[in-house]
Amino acid sequence: MASVFIGLGSNLSDPVKQLNTALSSLEKLPKTSVVQTSSFYGSTPLGPADQPDFVNAVCLLDTAFSPLELLAELKKIEADQGRIKKRHWGERLIDLDILLFDELTLTSSVLTIPHQGIASRDFVLIPLLEIAPDLMIPNKGSVQSLISVLQTSYLYPLSEASQ
Ligand code: AMP
Repeated sequence: MASVFIGLGSNLSDPVKQLNTALSSLEKLPKTSVVQTSSFYGSTPLGPADQPDFVNAVCLLDTAFSPLELLAELKKIEADQGRIKKRHWGERLIDLDILLFDELTLTSSVLTIPHQGIASRDFVLIPLLEIAPDLMIPNKGSVQSLISVLQTSYLYPLSEASQ
């Protein structure tokens, strides 16, 4: 079994509900169990500013799927949930990313692990720190050290979000 961290994000159609629906779908995957889930966080958009704020979380899975098999399963969950993607870094009903897959590093046309941008996004690093305080990102260092040098902040406590 591999230990895999998944990033979840949504900024449309009741994002909290969208994240909970996606988590239920992850729990139903064969050969996979959801070990831990972070709190939900609010974040301002990384891309175009004229879109709603996001709700983000991460979860830890144990899975027997290969990275490509898991990517296919995540795409299926996104499609089943009714994925809407209007523009790059734009609005999403649900976005599921493979952040880390054991200590694997992989770069291909369809899959990059660790996920590109993981080191500079507080809405990924802070939820990761919550559920895995000692986590190391291959070739990038500890989550704690990456947070300490972050240049930009997107994340805020969800209670401040207009849900
Ligand atoms: P996006 O909609 O911006 O999240 O991009 C989706 C595409 O990114 C997918 O179709 C994947 O082929 C590709 N991709 C590359 N690396 C990853 C990753 N680590 N997790 C999820 N998707 C990835």
